Amino acid sequence: MEPILVEPAPPPKPTTVVIDPGHGGSDTGVLGVNGLKEKEVVLAVAERIVRLSEPINTIKIAITREARDVEWSDATRVNFTLTKTQADLFITLHTGASYSPTARGFELYIAAPTTDTTGSTNKPPSDAGKSSATQNASLKLAEKIATALSASSGASARGIRRVPFRILNSLNIPAVAIEIGVLTNPEDEKLLASDEFRDKIAQGILAGIQEYLAETGGSP
Ligand SMILES: [Zn+2]
Repeated sequence: MEPILVEPAPPPKPTTVVIDPGHGGSDTGVLGVNGLKEKEVVLAVAERIVRLSEPINTIKIAITREARDVEWSDATRVNFTLTKTQADLFITLHTGASYSPTARGFELYIAAPTTDTTGSTNKPPSDAGKSSATQNASLKLAEKIATALSASSGASARGIRRVPFRILNSLNIPAVAIEIGVLTNPEDEKLLASDEFRDKIAQGILAGIQEYLAETGGSP
């Protein structure tokens, strides 16, 4: 038998997570009744996640909208995620809007399943995000974040839904969209304007990512 030389294992590569604050520039997103803009809330939370993650050497956070208050197309966000940063996980941040005055809390979304029961031939531009392994991993990531967000923020969980969001369906990595509150609700708007609540949301999202990685080792 040939002797086998065992090289010392290299340090594990950190998991790269893209945090994508939605909207930007002239696209403000949802407007609260007191004027708070979705694009500002989600950027503030994204920047908090970056700061909180700095001491954690197993996770590297990259943030889209590099010039911050600019509008990026979905294609630019996807290219940044898959090509520029070669990310392992993707999380896009939004706030909700509702006609119901009582709707509050956070809601999560993952890509819609591959099987189209309507028989429609209107396929989204890419089905990459809809393989069952990626979907299962996205669901697990969403579940971990939902649990951690409830614990950190005390906000009510409105559930996890599957939707054909183009950006989620275009990504072949675990990908989750989070509406971090209902901005059209005045009480949620007040919370989303506060530094304290933004910190809690950022902590919850980061804790959910860590829980997911602890359970899966980062591989779907
Ligand atoms: Zn949005």
